[in-house]
Amino acid sequence: MTDSPLFYQAGPALPEVSHAEGVSLWDTQGKEYLDGCSGAISCNLGHGRQDIRDAMLAQLDRVAFTYRTQFENAPALALGHALVGLTDGALDKVFFVSSGSEAVESALKLARQYFVATGAPQRRRFVSLRPSYHGSTLGALGVTGYRPLEAPFTTLTHASLKVPGPDFYRHRDADDDAHVDRVLAETRATIEAAGPESIIAFVLEPIGGASTGGRLLGERYLKGVRALCDEFGCLLILDEVLTGVGRTGTWFAYQHYGVTPDLLVTAKGLGAGYYPVGALLTRRDIVTEVMASGGFQHGHTYAGNPLACATGLAVIEAIRREGLLENVRARGEQLGTGLRALAERHAWVGHVRGLGLLWGVELVADPATREPFPAEQNRFAQITALAREEGLLVYPRRTLDGVAGDHFLVTPPLTITADEVETLLERLSRAMARFDR
Ligand code: PMP
Repeated sequence: MTDSPLFYQAGPALPEVSHAEGVSLWDTQGKEYLDGCSGAISCNLGHGRQDIRDAMLAQLDRVAFTYRTQFENAPALALGHALVGLTDGALDKVFFVSSGSEAVESALKLARQYFVATGAPQRRRFVSLRPSYHGSTLGALGVTGYRPLEAPFTTLTHASLKVPGPDFYRHRDADDDAHVDRVLAETRATIEAAGPESIIAFVLEPIGGASTGGRLLGERYLKGVRALCDEFGCLLILDEVLTGVGRTGTWFAYQHYGVTPDLLVTAKGLGAGYYPVGALLTRRDIVTEVMASGGFQHGHTYAGNPLACATGLAVIEAIRREGLLENVRARGEQLGTGLRALAERHAWVGHVRGLGLLWGVELVADPATREPFPAEQNRFAQITALAREEGLLVYPRRTLDGVAGDHFLVTPPLTITADEVETLLERLSRAMARFDR
């Protein structure tokens, strides 16, 4: 709409949403869309949930907002205990925020304050991956590895040390293990050249989300990073904004790999699209040091309000009650098998990878060389528009810094049924057939 007061991104005019139920949304023209990406990988329980609505209304009837310095509130305490329980107590302190970016900011600042408090102020920079995405605020952008987003702001952000992660699609090493070992050795050399005593923390997503289209890092790599952090005395921050709260078939993705972070951030699926709620989880000994040095110099107005926390609690209870982690594993197998079968039929699908209900599909101009399509062809936008015409929403990303092709994420709600997965695959198949021509 040309007269809209809103501005987000350049692009074609969007249909106006009318209503939503389960895994589907309808626009005001009556067209139905299967939500193949849970909005922004956030509506993890699907739409129109009566149980979440009821929990929110019950809280609204009691009190919607209280400020954290004025009152304790029972939903915040309960959600804090629930989150600690999801880590089996490995991370036993919780700090609430309202978004993924805020959660990342909080982790960066807490980690820095920890080293100031413990007499190591020379630790002043982070290590993160290129490509990566950790949020849109300046601190989170500082650890984000994606040049088009970074470029206008380089004078305003702290620059983290950016290192490549493993790429199991494009590497030319003898095998995957050799590849991981080489990547880790190069990262070690980069950190040694920069001075290990200057590093606060390694920040990374255990499975790439929007940034790399579902790229897996794998157990060998994550264990290697954990070992480097331990050796160099820095912290490990895992960004589970997208992968957390059941998306990959465990409560948190790190639980697949036997690697425990020192700090973990989560958001998106915690509020499941019903209310913004994010959290930073960490260990008591870290918090104790920071608190003893005068407290955590950070916070946001809406952090940990009762309505947000009642929503997060209802989401976790629903995942438990409905056995959704099992559903994610079963439907994830079905979806992955279906996507791989589709990929067989289209040479321009270079790579399909994922875990649970987090799948990425990478498009390439030449499957032999794995060359991405030229960026100006906007292939990610084409496939997304075709899918939308066929009644399917997917989450697109453009070519990343020339190191990966266009890609899209298929991340339906954790509640999706077997029949709905088949419908998703049929619609995607029709969209891909049209892209082929
Ligand atoms: N980290 C990751 C891994 C994300 O995927 C995102 C959002 N795409 C963020 C951080 C930022 O979250 P938010 O948009 O809620 O600020």
